[in-house]
Amino acid sequence: KQKAYSCLIRTAVPGGKATAEQFLAELDLCDRLGNGTLRITTRQGFQLHGVLKSDLKETIRKINEIKLSTFAACGDVSRNVMCCPAPYKNNHVRDQMQQLTDQLAIHFRPQSSSYYELWLTDEDGNKQNHAEFQPVAEPIYGERYLPRKFKIGVAEPSDNCIDVYTQDIGLLAIVEADQVVGYNVIVGGGMGNTPSADKTFPRLGDELTFATPDDVIAVCEAVVQVQRDYGNREDRKRARLKYLVHDLGGAAFKAKVEEYYGAALPAPRHAPVTGIDDHLGWHVQGDGKLFLGINIENGRVADVGDVRIKSGLRAIFERYGMAARLTPLQSVILCDVDPADRRGIEQLLREYGLKSADELSLARRFAVACPALPTCGLAITESERVMPQLIDQMETVLAEHKLDRTQIAIRMTGCPNGCARPYVADVGLVGKSVGKYTIYLGGNPQGTRIGFVYQEATPLEEIAAQLSPLLAGYQAEKLAEEGFGDYCSRLGRETLLAKAGQSEAM
Ligand code: SF4
Repeated sequence: KQKAYSCLIRTAVPGGKATAEQFLAELDLCDRLGNGTLRITTRQGFQLHGVLKSDLKETIRKINEIKLSTFAACGDVSRNVMCCPAPYKNNHVRDQMQQLTDQLAIHFRPQSSSYYELWLTDEDGNKQNHAEFQPVAEPIYGERYLPRKFKIGVAEPSDNCIDVYTQDIGLLAIVEADQVVGYNVIVGGGMGNTPSADKTFPRLGDELTFATPDDVIAVCEAVVQVQRDYGNREDRKRARLKYLVHDLGGAAFKAKVEEYYGAALPAPRHAPVTGIDDHLGWHVQGDGKLFLGINIENGRVADVGDVRIKSGLRAIFERYGMAARLTPLQSVILCDVDPADRRGIEQLLREYGLKSADELSLARRFAVACPALPTCGLAITESERVMPQLIDQMETVLAEHKLDRTQIAIRMTGCPNGCARPYVADVGLVGKSVGKYTIYLGGNPQGTRIGFVYQEATPLEEIAAQLSPLLAGYQAEKLAEEGFGDYCSRLGRETLLAKAGQSEAM
């Protein structure tokens, strides 16, 4: 008797842009062939869980039929390209960013025909998509592909919702007179680390250069090729681009990129990141229509008790047929809403138990958790399944300290790989052992600073209580405009520990 292997199937959705038909088809697949839930990932993709090995081919074929693909959603190639998902219309900046995202997704898609041979050949051996079957050389990846996965994202300084400094290549739009005049190319960001190996660490990317819209893809290609040829292929733990940038140093790395690009590269522009938007709630789209961001807790589209997110979204997409965007905070935006339909949509949301943005605390809106147990094979402990309860506790503590209207980002992962980008959050919780987490403090909502280890191996049930005295100190001592992560970073670990100790002794 054969074992019933079950798999995760990840769909790349560049910039998180999906049609109603695509969203509904993924919902159908999760019901018919998955575990009855659909996940919106932290890279704006879809993820099906619990697909039996025997159903893989049918699932992947169906995803390709709806003009999406699982190709290069995983693997040692450029993965799903992220972009700020706000669907503003008649907005040159957003249009340019989304266009670049689509171009990058196509440019860095592998050329191998194997994917199509494997998955898109029917039972009789007939090829489903003839154009894709022509074997061609890999002009960018060569024969060996990249040493490790590679992540690209596009943002603009007022809204770093994609965490541009955590990408292998982050492209930060430089805007003048409502036009993107180019991008700061940021290289060598990455979150994963192995605590037992000091040689690994989370890292923010370095600002490498400024590239015009016409040049930016060529510059990215040169960066990818340097990683292809000089990245570490001996030690997989140190194979990401961030280690190459770190080891070579900024100047030597830039010289290598210039060599591949074929010209000197200018200095980056001054473009500090100033904010992050979760895009929830109603917004004017700019073309007479509206868009609505709906919070999907930890990205899990499911029906649980009275909160029937899956059925609610199905009903809305079936009735209104609007386009959707998946956000980097694992939520969904309904685009192109006719103002006349607003009331009907709100009625459906209430009927299915979905809360509006105003009814949610900022802690819940900005919380992110990775899937971890039971679906991720690398998980050390829980994440998604315990995060809602932890946020309940944090809401109580934040209210006690009158911080319930303060934006404090809490992110959790079930292992140090950092898929929910916890190291840049105000509070990062990283699975250390079963039921215990390393608390990182001192990141910031803008995603421009990595936090420090505040406390190792904290039991889940103690986290809110451990943070409580620090939040009290923050409320009493914060400077104007200072976020919780800024406060923690200013005071540092020793001072915070002393404060927590004093508070316990009282
Ligand atoms: Fe990523 Fe680790 Fe979470 Fe798995 S448990 S999703 S590898 S962070």
